Amino acid sequence: MDNKDLETKGFDTRAVRYAQQRTGEREHSEPVFTTSSYVFDSAAHAAAVFGGEQKGNIYSRFSNPTVTAFEKRLASLEGGESCVATSSGMSAILSTIMALLQSGDHLIASRSLFGSTIRLFDVYLKKFGIETSYVTLSSMEEWQAAVRPNTRMLFVETPSNPLTEICDIARLSVLAQRHNAILVVDNCFCTPALQRPLQLGANIVIHSATKYLDGQGRAVGGAVIGNQEQVGNQIFSFLRTAGPTMSPFNAWIFSRGLETLSLRMKAHSESAIQMADWLSEHPRVTHVYYPGLKTHPQYALAKKQQSAAGGIIGFKVDGEQEAAWKVVDGLKLMSITANLGDVKTTITHPATTTHHRITAEQRACSGITDNLLRISVGLETIDDLIDDLDRALA
Ligand SMILES: *Cc1c(COP(=O)(O)O)cnc(C)c1O
Repeated sequence: MDNKDLETKGFDTRAVRYAQQRTGEREHSEPVFTTSSYVFDSAAHAAAVFGGEQKGNIYSRFSNPTVTAFEKRLASLEGGESCVATSSGMSAILSTIMALLQSGDHLIASRSLFGSTIRLFDVYLKKFGIETSYVTLSSMEEWQAAVRPNTRMLFVETPSNPLTEICDIARLSVLAQRHNAILVVDNCFCTPALQRPLQLGANIVIHSATKYLDGQGRAVGGAVIGNQEQVGNQIFSFLRTAGPTMSPFNAWIFSRGLETLSLRMKAHSESAIQMADWLSEHPRVTHVYYPGLKTHPQYALAKKQQSAAGGIIGFKVDGEQEAAWKVVDGLKLMSITANLGDVKTTITHPATTTHHRITAEQRACSGITDNLLRISVGLETIDDLIDDLDRALA
């Protein structure tokens, strides 16, 4: 079945089959095109492709069939016209900003963001005259109040890392549109299997493919999805010039990841709700942050906006850093690692790892306290994971 016919098929059918380009060898599984450049029939052919009069691959900094297949498949799953794959999630964010903003522009971001994203905004964008204001993710009043005449972009992660706060994407998109600003959603925690921001009015979706898109902790990569003008022309133009390109090997891995994405996201979510319920009852746990819990402040919004609550849980233990570290060190099964979205369950202490480079004041403001832990619930037997936690908490 060709792409045209596949376009109307279900999410899982597209996740498995969309954008495969079979070669003359009639291979069933997709090959990896390990080539840095492409040949032309003649000098005139080369000139035509370079000049844009004829379509074709030139050089793998711009395009590579394995990377293109991943881009097309992910664009289809997010419901976007265009996708640009990048070397990492951070370079997806950087490329978006370099292409769409300029010196003098103002950016509003939610306070609870991935640590490196905050640092990118505060240290590097600032150097080039782009100023960032931070607001509480879930407060429409704060978003509204932060808008200035030169505001050009709103940037959110929902659910946020590591406290799983949620914002109303549809309402935020109305605000963005009213002020002619671009709404960017980092969809890392949900993936298109659980949430499709473009359908809710967002302009751009960002991914760290490193996380759930791969799903097995094998490679670093990223992606930007949106319309043809902003992504296919402007962001692509930055990428082909500046070069934060995804490698074909990694694109091949990520395309395999997409094939099982919705199955995995369902399984992660099913285990996570069991673990969140169990943690909520534990006497040594003071707070549990998980959008699937009725006690979550935006439970109703999460139910409306996402098809499941995802695999990330934040929780606080009674005590300070020492108490949190003791829990981490008492675990035998879970991995102590900063990565998330893996089939292997991982635990991290955000204040001293993922968020250590932002200031103590910024951490306090975003609720990243010293007794906070984050678990990315994997696909091991849930009873074994709970046993592991039970022993560590005791
Ligand atoms: C990991 C992560 C990023 C950065 O992605 P890399 O692939 O590590 O560069 C951005 N946003 C969120 C929410 C993340 O979890």
